[in-house]
Amino acid sequence: MKSGGLHIESMKSWLPKANKPVVIAGPCSAETESQVLEVAKKLAATNRVSLLRAGVWKPRTRPNSFEGIGDKALAWLMKAEHQFGIPAIIEVANEDHVKKALDAGLRHLWIGARTTVNPFSVQGIADALQGQDIPVLVKNPLNPDLDLWIGALERLNKAGIKKLVAVHRGFNTYQDHVFRNSPNWEIPIELKTRFPELDVIVDPSHISGKRSLLHEVSQKALDLSFDGLMIETHPNPDEAWSDPKQQIFLEQFEDFLTQLEIRQSHFEDTIVINQLEQLRKLIDQVDHNLIENLSRRLEIVEQIGHYKAEHNVTVFQLERWRQILNDRLEHGESKGLEPEMIKAIWGDLHKASIQLQTEIAQRHLREND
Ligand code: PEP
Ligand code: MN
Repeated sequence: MKSGGLHIESMKSWLPKANKPVVIAGPCSAETESQVLEVAKKLAATNRVSLLRAGVWKPRTRPNSFEGIGDKALAWLMKAEHQFGIPAIIEVANEDHVKKALDAGLRHLWIGARTTVNPFSVQGIADALQGQDIPVLVKNPLNPDLDLWIGALERLNKAGIKKLVAVHRGFNTYQDHVFRNSPNWEIPIELKTRFPELDVIVDPSHISGKRSLLHEVSQKALDLSFDGLMIETHPNPDEAWSDPKQQIFLEQFEDFLTQLEIRQSHFEDTIVINQLEQLRKLIDQVDHNLIENLSRRLEIVEQIGHYKAEHNVTVFQLERWRQILNDRLEHGESKGLEPEMIKAIWGDLHKASIQLQTEIAQRHLREND
């Protein structure tokens, strides 16, 4: 299927059990053979899991952390795959990983966020995969750069990989205090809009960074009609060798899936409903971002108000106001926004700012009388 320039075979056509949503689960890292087998056995028993995930070589932020079991774990995953019938999938970050994984018999691979950012690394993996007909899942790059994500998919596609899936795992930021990786839902939605045939699944574990958010993020992923979930699952997460806070207890996994609301709707309607829904979710997101920004703006205004009051500077500064308005009009114009709208909005913002600063100045006067 050709989709926006990519030649893709959708998951439905190659995944042995493509449930809706497709569920990929397993520990962040393969730790011991018995851990891998225990997880595989329990996940197989749920009959809901399509792929068993586990990290073998782990990209860690700091050295001296657990960097994965390495080569030895490949055989454990193959054993789990054969014993319990769920294909295993691991992360590869370079040509050597690809070669070792293929030699060991693995037939499903994913590229991690730290690798997608680097076109050299992705190209190396694509070259090593040339001529192979195996599925590759591509996580988004760490930074919110859709083109870089698409570029990685294109590199693999050019090497002949058609069984491609994108995995949304959120984006690195210093500002987000809620999520480990900000979801920026508009980015995977834009990806889906540009490549409607591309399956996009969500990794709520790495977005959330903590178990308490997993349900909310997974539900949101389903409400936004993404095609599947990748969930880190561990027999004893608190003792996990990597990502202990975000992995869900294996024992609770089935309940966790059951508690998710999976909307059933007629296929023909789904496309229309989803598109409208996705646009509305985008508007919600943009509006909430606006509110966050307005509140942040007012906080800064308040600081300025105090500063002016303490240094006896007038609240209204004509030159500054002219400069703000011209700058915003110019920026607005470059984005195709009507000057009237910019004037009206910034007029209101300025009025609110003056009012707040005047109150601060008066309070300051009273307190220093
Ligand atoms: C992982 O899935 O364990 C992992 C390292 O993910 P990411 O590349 O999304 O950080
Ligand atoms: Mn992890």
